Amino acid sequence: MAITAVLPEVNLPGVDLVSCAACHALALFLLPNGDFACPDGHAITPDDLHLFEPGDTWAITPVGALAIVTDPAAAYGRLCEARDGIENPDDSELADPHGAYREAVDALCSARALGLLLPAGAELIGQGR
Ligand SMILES: [Zn+2]
Repeated sequence: MAITAVLPEVNLPGVDLVSCAACHALALFLLPNGDFACPDGHAITPDDLHLFEPGDTWAITPVGALAIVTDPAAAYGRLCEARDGIENPDDSELADPHGAYREAVDALCSARALGLLLPAGAELIGQGR
């Protein structure tokens, strides 16, 4: 009997599930030994998780799926840059500092929802949109 599996829903801004490199359609789930595998058994280890873009990191969703999420430290840096752009629009290179601020807050809230710690001293005022 064939196992059919679909990507579980993840409804957090800036969070993308990691699909299996071997079968593409299936998500990777955390195994008890700390590795990850898709429902078809293709496994990877945490050492294979070095391929993310700068500013991204990984987390585990509530259903155990591996996801890429904006690193809270990078998101907090963007939040501070956006806040500076809102306060000093003439000195900012951001076209839409308010939009950048919302995106950064969303990324921080998503990271927090997945259990990632915010940078030391980070304070969030907004909670998404
Ligand atoms: Zn697979």
